Amino acid sequence: MAGRWAVVVHGGSGSSSAFKDGPAAACNAAVESLRRGESALEAAVAAAVVMEDDARFNAGTGSNLRLDGVTIEMDAAAMTSDARFGAVGCIRRVKNPILVACEVMKTPHLLLCGEGAAAFARQHGFPDHDPISDRAREKYRLARTNLNARTFENERPERRRFDLGEQWNFPGSQQDDCDTIGAVVRDEKGRFAVANSTGGVTYMLPGRIGDSPLLGAGLYAGRSGAVAATGDGEEITRKLLSKQVYDWMGSGMPAEEACRRGLDLFTNQVSVGLIAVSADGFCGVSNRDMAWASAEE
Ligand code: ASP
Repeated sequence: MAGRWAVVVHGGSGSSSAFKDGPAAACNAAVESLRRGESALEAAVAAAVVMEDDARFNAGTGSNLRLDGVTIEMDAAAMTSDARFGAVGCIRRVKNPILVACEVMKTPHLLLCGEGAAAFARQHGFPDHDPISDRAREKYRLARTNLNARTFENERPERRRFDLGEQWNFPGSQQDDCDTIGAVVRDEKGRFAVANSTGGVTYMLPGRIGDSPLLGAGLYAGRSGAVAATGDGEEITRKLLSKQVYDWMGSGMPAEEACRRGLDLFTNQVSVGLIAVSADGFCGVSNRDMAWASAEE
């Protein structure tokens, strides 16, 4: 007997809910995929591709520049409830990192990074693509202005100074434009999937990988549901947040309660958002504003 499907898509913890039309369009793409009889994974990836191609969001085209002002490196991952997982980290010059992550899922590996990931993408037919956008250039210009003008005295001590050949004052979790993307899906066969994609945070060194492509940190899926996290990647990873929230759902806690409990693990200084879908519920929560949308049969 066919069950009820559900889709949730977010545009990042700290993204303005005025951009909600982006996740809503991505939700529609996932719903169309499900109506064609495709799987939870195909639907989550369809949603992620729409978000990666929307240059207002920090994933795929529109990704943030690194602190050197020239490099764009992207992270993406997907996971299914039957424990299939594929991810790319610090991949350059591809249009849709989530599609490359899905190819990695078909290999014996879980995560490919950097040059190896880009070479793998070319071998699998993904052409060269420059993801830089005018918005990313403008964001970088503002970030540099902030770095030069502010002292960030109220930041946590380990964040204050940052050595990049020169000394930087480094605003850790002060990300007011934190718009990574993520999608979680339950299909009518009761399968779950999650897809994440990001251009990272506002202030980061080349080579940095956040939580988004890390199994159990930025995403998790299993028989009890699927979870995607967004926000301060280092803090999310320290707590293996997605697996923690998943385990609470697995012990019978409703999705929304589990996600709110997840937010409670952090002080308000740390930007965090979560979306989740379980057998009988779904939700999106953040301790910042967050553009997100959902659809349910
Ligand atoms: N979690 C992402 C990262 O740290 C950023 C975000 O969600 O906006 O790379």
